[in-house]
Amino acid sequence: MVEIKRIMCNPLQENCYVISDESKECVIIDCGVYYQDEKDALIAYIRDKQLTPTHLIATHGHLDHNFGNAFIYKEYGLKVEVCSEDEYLISDLGKQASSLFGMQLEEAQPEVGRWLKDGDTITFGHHELRVIQTPGHTPGSALLYCEAEKTAFTGDTLFRMSIGRTDFDGGSWQQMENSLRNVVGKLPKETIVLSGHGPQSTIADELTYNPYMRG
Ligand SMILES: [Zn+2]
Ligand SMILES: [Zn+2]
Repeated sequence: MVEIKRIMCNPLQENCYVISDESKECVIIDCGVYYQDEKDALIAYIRDKQLTPTHLIATHGHLDHNFGNAFIYKEYGLKVEVCSEDEYLISDLGKQASSLFGMQLEEAQPEVGRWLKDGDTITFGHHELRVIQTPGHTPGSALLYCEAEKTAFTGDTLFRMSIGRTDFDGGSWQQMENSLRNVVGKLPKETIVLSGHGPQSTIADELTYNPYMRG
């Protein structure tokens, strides 16, 4: 059994997830915490559940999924793990902040802890998350798949009834189409989809109703 907590973060309403099991180890996925109440909510959840964070993972290098990296490093000593194709994004979060959001990042950003690639596994407690690369939204986009729990954290690749944009720097509609058709769409139908924005879904529902996944 795993427990999954979702905290909606920052002006872009990004979903940060904490997944844990009975071992009390947990993984923090897409830590977009930005406002103080979001940071407080995350810390309180981890403290109240007596969890030990063992990994910080980003589904891709966009700032709204990485606002909290410096905070997590300060609190728990964890550095973000992300696919290397998104190095151009993650290595310059300050630039994303100023060019996309017109804001200044106050803290210095810790370096990346580990470059992920397709097929890597991240272990917490008695569970495993598999890195499955799904380029398109960004070249280094990946989903994290927990096979035992039939759950996929899809980042900004797949949303409920929608998909992520491909018109940002480094995005590719061709890659997105391929990822949706040949990777995401091939997950077991009962897989629960936990997206980077918006409510949860299932692969079965998306294959039926999502105009980008149907047929
Ligand atoms: Zn994104
Ligand atoms: Zn996003």
